[in-house]
Amino acid sequence: TAGLMTMGYAGASTKSEAEPLMESILPKKDRYARLTSNENPFGPSASAKKALKAAIDDSFLYPREYRQTLLSLIAKEEGVTEDHILLGAGSSELLHAAARVYGGANGKVLSADPTYTSLVRSAEMMGSEWVKIPLDKHFDHDLSTMEYKVKPDISLVYLVNPNNPTGKIMTGDEIIGFCDTVSQKVPVFVDEAYWDYMENPKGSTTTACIKKGANVIVARTFSKVHAFAGLRVGYCIAQPEVIKKLAKEGPRNTLSGPSMSAATASLVDYDFIKYSVKMNNEGKKFVYDVLEKTGHDYFPSHTNFILFPIAMESEDFRTKMLAKGVGIKSMNVAGQDYCRVSMGKMEDLEMFADAFKQVISTKI
Ligand code: PMP
Repeated sequence: TAGLMTMGYAGASTKSEAEPLMESILPKKDRYARLTSNENPFGPSASAKKALKAAIDDSFLYPREYRQTLLSLIAKEEGVTEDHILLGAGSSELLHAAARVYGGANGKVLSADPTYTSLVRSAEMMGSEWVKIPLDKHFDHDLSTMEYKVKPDISLVYLVNPNNPTGKIMTGDEIIGFCDTVSQKVPVFVDEAYWDYMENPKGSTTTACIKKGANVIVARTFSKVHAFAGLRVGYCIAQPEVIKKLAKEGPRNTLSGPSMSAATASLVDYDFIKYSVKMNNEGKKFVYDVLEKTGHDYFPSHTNFILFPIAMESEDFRTKMLAKGVGIKSMNVAGQDYCRVSMGKMEDLEMFADAFKQVISTKI
């Protein structure tokens, strides 16, 4: 082939040499129900896609204006000034920044167990210790033990609300009580990745703590209800001096213009959020029904995934489900095996239900 070098750039009219490559990297959607990673299959919203495309022509520019527009919209929506906000390429980048600031060789990060462990793993890699407080017998955060264990050597407390993998929540009063007391001694990082899926979220109680001056860091992501897992947009809210420290250690203009443009549109697309939550609730109802009819318990979920105990070795269960084209996450907590399944589209959940019934019937 003559190639682009000699012919000059031919634009979209010529079939690109990259096309066969594109086909091989695109996910093969029809062969596999991916219910492993708590993604939202009902988006991104039409408004987000439109804003994403509109920003592509500006991609040769550093995305200063897109950043500013998103930042001021988040500030307005959250009722804080812009110096309280830091954007990251997904909340992962902000969790990692917090691990760098508050972890390190002398750090001690306290959290529940099990919970989402990305922040603590980053801190551990930098030499920090993980002080784990097991969830109580109902699989709730054991806040009184956590509070009791906060000694002067703890450098960060990490809460996940709603929690992953349980899908359970702490009430507004519990969170406020904990944050008000504990944040006087040590910063409290509250990961609210699934916040929009909570029933009656009634305004974020954690941002209210920040507005009163508490040393609380709240992380939010567009990866879940906004369906941006592949676009990578997240943000955190904290006191301006904390934001400065996190910015120094972490994200430096890592977000793209199109992603920030799309996030700006999606943030205020309340109809899309409502639609995602509604579809998610329908999925949960379907899965609850499958579990009830097959005699399984489950944790009623405030998120887009469901955790339930299984009477089978978890890794064996996961492999058998995968062989039937269904990806789920499995785990063992205190000797009991569990499956965590994300809410896919109804056809994925039907695949899950069929595979599940077959797999459980094979157990001896
Ligand atoms: N926090 C929690 C509790 C999560 O479950 C996840 C994703 N699974 C994240 C943070 C990270 O998401 P992202 O980096 O896509 O924002």
